[in-house]
Amino acid sequence: MARILLVDDSASARALLGVRLREKGHEVEEVAHAADAAEIALNKPPEAVVTDLWMPGISGLQLCRLLRAEPATATVPVVLLTASDDRRSRFWARHAGATAYVTKTEIDRLTDVLGDLTSSPKTRPPPSPHPQVVTRGNVQERLSQLLDASLFESTIAGEVRALSQKAEELEQLFGDLCALASDVAGYRWLALTTDSAPAPHVKYTTRLFIHTHPDLKDAAEREARDALGVAPPPERRKPDEGDAFVIADKRAVEAEWSTPPILLPVRFGSVSMGQIALAPSRRGASHEDRRLIAMMANELGGPLRMAALVAEARRLASTDTLTGLLNRRAFVERIEKARAASDKQLFPISTLLLDVDHFKKVNDTLGHDAGDAVLQGVAKVLSNMARKSDFVARWGGEEFVVCLTATAEAGARIAAERVRRAIAEARYILPNGNEHRATASVGLASAENAEWDIHELLGRSDKAMYAAKHRGRNRVETA
Ligand code: GH3
Ligand code: MG
Ligand code: MG
Repeated sequence: MARILLVDDSASARALLGVRLREKGHEVEEVAHAADAAEIALNKPPEAVVTDLWMPGISGLQLCRLLRAEPATATVPVVLLTASDDRRSRFWARHAGATAYVTKTEIDRLTDVLGDLTSSPKTRPPPSPHPQVVTRGNVQERLSQLLDASLFESTIAGEVRALSQKAEELEQLFGDLCALASDVAGYRWLALTTDSAPAPHVKYTTRLFIHTHPDLKDAAEREARDALGVAPPPERRKPDEGDAFVIADKRAVEAEWSTPPILLPVRFGSVSMGQIALAPSRRGASHEDRRLIAMMANELGGPLRMAALVAEARRLASTDTLTGLLNRRAFVERIEKARAASDKQLFPISTLLLDVDHFKKVNDTLGHDAGDAVLQGVAKVLSNMARKSDFVARWGGEEFVVCLTATAEAGARIAAERVRRAIAEARYILPNGNEHRATASVGLASAENAEWDIHELLGRSDKAMYAAKHRGRNRVETA
């Protein structure tokens, strides 16, 4: 025999159902108001609760949510009843955590469901050592706390999800996430790693983002790398290549001690998108810290996936697939963009146009694949030699361009000669394992004044390159 709490504001419905349940051998306690039901259930949990869905005052849905949220009744089955089989009631019943949903006309189904639910003995959480007596007054209070908490949660979740609409770049996305997180929680640092899909020519596939207080910058980076398992980059790395992106400001809390961080994976469906970690500002992580980080971990997968797709689409649109260098359009675009950004001083500026010598012969005698391998090798030589501020691109076919910023003609001649020699000295490994040697002719042009035009510079480089061809190839000519 199971003790069942039957909640319905209609006396006739209670009476009808009560009779049927007692006939099945249950002990039935009838209650007209959800507040009374909550008080009874919390003080002495029944085997099951059967409640009307829509009632004045506290509804069956709210009662169900409250019982789910309270440790004493978290596992008590709740069956929701309604007069009609409407879709919306069914939806809410599912989302309130009800065990089953039965329409009032299906009394036989109700008794079957209850029979199943109460036949197997349930493991109950052990009673609290200091049981708190629940009164009708604090049922209302607990319920409104619960509703506030779930409103807060769904608001934060919505805000995190909406990040992808505002921010396409990961840096901006992380910045917006920090603004949101620091509004609702105090932390020493918040960190995010992203496992972007490995792309050719990208050496570092994990990126680390950290938000911390300016005075904790070094400690935070150390701790975040430790917690998230991101090794510091090797010495030889080029700046900006897969290194940490750090936001340091006073929205993060300057707390001396270091409490172990809370760490959670971020997923998009079955795809791992990264990890998120938060270092609490107090000794020991609070319940709120844990809830916040869990919510962010839950909701961030979509925005991260979106940012990764946008980044990948951009990369594909601007990259030459054979060599991984910028393509022609992206090369011109990047230079014009850098020039428009007033903080970048590009002038004096020089351009090199390189054309591989007798390249047709490589294709004709060794095959197209061998030709491709040589082009990839030349691209590698060029990107290894370029400074971070230079732009390197495949201009098309077996032609490449390098834009040397803040470099006047004298310096550019030295650079061009160095590039020419590096191409000539490199060993190009062909698909069949053989080594191949190649040379290129280089045309150099330097801007004469700050009103330079990239197309004019490239036009002069092109002419100089043809002059180099005419004068015997494997040489540099200056326009
Ligand atoms: P020169 O020293 O005068 O530059 O002689 P060249 O043979 O290099 O010049 P030409 O312009 O006649 O030949 C360029 C060749 O590059 C022709 C074309 O088939 C080949 N080519 C263009 N793009 C690719 C590519 O992506 N892969 C391969 N394998 N070959 C390519
Ligand atoms: Mg050519
Ligand atoms: Mg050529």
